[in-house]
Amino acid sequence: MLTVAEAIGAILDEVKRLPGTRVPLNDALGQVLTEEAISDLDSPPFDKSLMDGYAVRSADVTSGLKHLRVVDEVMAGQLARRPVEAGEAIRIMTGAPIPLGADAVIPVEQTHLNAGDRETVNLVIEPANVTAGKNILRRGASTLKGTRVIPAGRLLRPQEIGALAELGKAEVAVNRAPRVVVLATGNELVPIDEIPGPGQIRNSNEPMLLAQLRKMGAVSASLGVARDDPADLRNRVQQGLAHDLFVLSGGVSAGELDLVPGVLAEAGVRNVFHKVRVKPGQPVWFGVAERRSAPQAASNPALCYVFGLPGNPVSSMVCCELFVRPALRRMMGIDPAIPESVRARLTRQHFNGGNRPTYHPARCVPSDTGFIVEPVKWAGSADLCATVEANAMALFPVGEQLYEAGTLLDVFLW
Ligand code: AMP
Ligand code: MG
Repeated sequence: MLTVAEAIGAILDEVKRLPGTRVPLNDALGQVLTEEAISDLDSPPFDKSLMDGYAVRSADVTSGLKHLRVVDEVMAGQLARRPVEAGEAIRIMTGAPIPLGADAVIPVEQTHLNAGDRETVNLVIEPANVTAGKNILRRGASTLKGTRVIPAGRLLRPQEIGALAELGKAEVAVNRAPRVVVLATGNELVPIDEIPGPGQIRNSNEPMLLAQLRKMGAVSASLGVARDDPADLRNRVQQGLAHDLFVLSGGVSAGELDLVPGVLAEAGVRNVFHKVRVKPGQPVWFGVAERRSAPQAASNPALCYVFGLPGNPVSSMVCCELFVRPALRRMMGIDPAIPESVRARLTRQHFNGGNRPTYHPARCVPSDTGFIVEPVKWAGSADLCATVEANAMALFPVGEQLYEAGTLLDVFLW
């Protein structure tokens, strides 16, 4: 049976990055830029005031002038109508272009006007405080035209979106967002707005997986529920294989009605692995197929990656984090595609046993001495409600062991 690291390695050996596309800037959050972003202008594009105050000639002030004649006023978005001559000042607002002749701005707080007089400004500062360039952001101080501001391959966060807007990119080249569908399987599943009858349960995995996938940056949709019936499953599997990624929940273990591996194999999905040494989630299944209804180029066929996640809700959730996430990240061009962990100290004694490493729902928070982690009370892979109290999973290695408070663990933040 593969280890988690081997399974992730096998996934990354298979999964290819999706082709690029162009999207409006406002739709680009969370995607990867596939072109470099070069500044088409100096930023700022003109010398501008960093303060509300008065644009002056610094030499006037250093030579001892305390009263300057106010000859104009300039707001952001305007140009001054005249230059600043000796003995003069122009009232200026933050962001407005510095008038010709001026080389410093005196903040309004360092001045006063006589009652009823807006023509003469009295300076209340030491001459030494005014040097050429004071409170002015020079043209190009932040970026010069032609500078590479964002390299290709960068994940677009809000600050990149803002910077791209400043560079005039209304549309950007990104990796296409993966299109993913989720198919829940099971005769026992009822819709979430129904009260389950005897032996039935609500379909919690579908909305949970859709939400996880959406949060990871995929465009996710549901294929409904397949009953544990070969014909129904076959039909929905064909629909699932028309997407970049197809995530099934349930039906992958060794039960009488665990039909998923057989139906996927019959549909031509090449199995890469079935079962990983992990708790929860051991029966997880991964394979690759040629994507249905996509134009196939013989040299580079469009592929559909298929995950069969165990039906127990926490197994589904953990396997989605551990295995589907790296696949999605690789498809989206985000590297490294390995799950990121932090090291955290256990807050209290904890016993863990078993022949598989356990990913235990936990609360992990920063402290003065680094991250600390507390496993939440958890009744196992069907206990989804326990994860509501958790923000991470703490990894306990294979073997029976009493972990003392203070033990350092690998923790994966959700
Ligand atoms: P399976 O992997 O199909 O053997 O299912 C394992 C357990 O998970 C069973 O108790 C199922 O009832 C439960 N289960 C399967 N699918 C779902 C689902 N979509 N939502 C909630 N529980 C599920
Ligand atoms: Mg089932």
